[in-house]
Amino acid sequence: EPFGHLQLDQKLVNKIVAQKFEKPTAIQSQALPCVLSGRNVIGVAKTGSGKTIAYVWPMLVHVSAQRAVEKKEGPIGLIMVPTRELGQQVFLETKKYAQLFNISVCALLGGENKHHQWKELRAGVDIIVATPGRLIEMVKKKATNMQRCTYVVLDEADQMFSLGFEYQIRSIINQIRPDKQILLFTATMKKKIRQLCVDMLVDPIVITI
Ligand code: AMP
Repeated sequence: EPFGHLQLDQKLVNKIVAQKFEKPTAIQSQALPCVLSGRNVIGVAKTGSGKTIAYVWPMLVHVSAQRAVEKKEGPIGLIMVPTRELGQQVFLETKKYAQLFNISVCALLGGENKHHQWKELRAGVDIIVATPGRLIEMVKKKATNMQRCTYVVLDEADQMFSLGFEYQIRSIINQIRPDKQILLFTATMKKKIRQLCVDMLVDPIVITI
């Protein structure tokens, strides 16, 4: 049982077996226990490292627990990504596991149909995968809000900064409750990312792959 020590839900274990995953990747074996324990984590890891699972599986545990107690509207989990391409990839990966728990996932990606996104938000969502610009636009229009959000992922944070999203990222995080868990993944640890971590992540664990 290579994933056995994590005490994952049987539905996830079955999925792992079906996909023939033999063992956790380096980022997974180091990050999963920290994230599952509720800590804020900074993961210095690239695409291809298996980082998506490192934040998606604990997110599903978190969402399952929170939605039983938290009656507000809006997503419980938020994943921010730099580009539509990464967003689509992360959306599919998240949905693959979320549907095992009847957890709903909505993609709010720039360049895609707003009317369709609006309708999905109206129906109620547990998890949003978003590019920063489109998310801010939808929040401004009150299509959704961050009142229930307690689990935030910044994926490819360095890319988001390169694309000029620093202000948007800070503005969104500032709208989210202080009692949130926050995870930041980046391929490189530059000065501006380090500063964001100091400003936004309380007592984080840093994992470098
Ligand atoms: P990511 O870095 O999250 O984009 O993942 C890269 C690819 O690795 C995806 O296609 C995953 O499905 C796959 N993958 C993730 N974790 C594992 C694992 N433990 N064993 C084998 N493949 C994995």
